[in-house]
Amino acid sequence: MSDTGTEAMEPRAEAAKLDESDELRGKRAEFSGYGLDEVVYLDGNSLGALHRAVPGRLAEVVEHEWGRLRIRSWDESGWWTAPERVGDRVGRLVGAAPGQVVVGDSTSVNVFKAVVAAVRIARGGGLSDTGAGPESGGGGPARDEILVDAATFPTDGYIAESAARMTGCAVRPLPAAGIPAAVGARTAAVLVNHVDYRTGRLHDLPGTTAAARAAGAPVVWDLCHSVGALPVELDAHGVDLAVGCTYKFLGGGPGSPAFLYVRRGLQPRFDSPLPGWNSHADPFAMASGYAPAEGAVRGRVGTPDILSMLALDAALDVWDGVSVESVRAKSLALTDFFLRCVAAYVPAGRAESITPAAHAERGSQVALRCPDAGDVMAELIRRGVVGDYRRPDVLRFGFAPLYTRFADAERAARVLAEVLTEARGGGAAD
Ligand SMILES: *Cc1c(COP(=O)(O)O)cnc(C)c1O
Repeated sequence: MSDTGTEAMEPRAEAAKLDESDELRGKRAEFSGYGLDEVVYLDGNSLGALHRAVPGRLAEVVEHEWGRLRIRSWDESGWWTAPERVGDRVGRLVGAAPGQVVVGDSTSVNVFKAVVAAVRIARGGGLSDTGAGPESGGGGPARDEILVDAATFPTDGYIAESAARMTGCAVRPLPAAGIPAAVGARTAAVLVNHVDYRTGRLHDLPGTTAAARAAGAPVVWDLCHSVGALPVELDAHGVDLAVGCTYKFLGGGPGSPAFLYVRRGLQPRFDSPLPGWNSHADPFAMASGYAPAEGAVRGRVGTPDILSMLALDAALDVWDGVSVESVRAKSLALTDFFLRCVAAYVPAGRAESITPAAHAERGSQVALRCPDAGDVMAELIRRGVVGDYRRPDVLRFGFAPLYTRFADAERAARVLAEVLTEARGGGAAD
């Protein structure tokens, strides 16, 4: 805990070494040109940094595709099919074979579609691809409970509550770890955040999915804090439904459209509560009656937000040739190193990590609890270390492995220690 020069040098030297041997180090250059080097940006889990390909591509979309081609672009520039095409690009990053992911709307809206569709599937024949058989949920006792991760990001909880009222269910909040033991014949749907947005805790996706499946209920996974940060492997784990946003680790830009995954075998029975014309089997028939399209397209609603969608599309270029496994390895190394630096620099007892130490339980952020967290984060930001603050007492530091360096982690911990030491020296009560 001593603060002598030589001891403080050690983590800095280690950071330099780790950065030198980082196989993703070349990726950071793709984010240059916007002052990323002037700060330590540890908020890529909230708004991903701007990728260099985006401004030029957006200008081209506006000037050429919209400006000159106008209406022709729906066909000629591939606008109409962009939700599925960009969806497949996101799909690769979450272990989904093509044809199962569609991009559009916000995560909030996709949670609504997925939860209502999950209840309908559970009641209408269960999870087998034909809607019959041993995993069938139909014909059994009434399924009238939606189990929701009690620590969920608020929007998911609000929407689950409304979906429950609309479908005659009740929401039962539970700690995510308790869900596998709680699923049963009354479960109509389960909604879990893969990574807890406050603590950075990674929940057990394979185990929870398998337990819910055995009980005949679909799980909706919210991947907002795992997509682009760690391997999800939706297909491999037999996940039924998933949603996630694209402006965090995927860097799609403010409000970029979210995604919805529907497992292929379940798609014929995905009965959307928002059956807009874009999900119609033949939208330009302009038919008065609704007939759902085949495939992931069924998850669409209305006209896609093309400017945001194509900004996301350009931002995804940085992922070409990148394996999610290497991103995960660096993410864990970064968060391990940051925790070590915090332990070395920060006065004992001043800030406590609430992020699990075990790799199997950690996402790509570190959350530190400290009593005056709001003031501390404001001061960190003044000193060029950008994380965020979650009331009442949490400092959040997100580590986006494509552009965050070990040197950034070291500097963040060092500046944090300075701020916490000064705040105490300044007479704050202990
Ligand atoms: C960021 C986040 C959201 C955001 O939802 P929006 O509809 O994009 O505002 C939802 N759920 C979780 C778990 C999140 O982390």
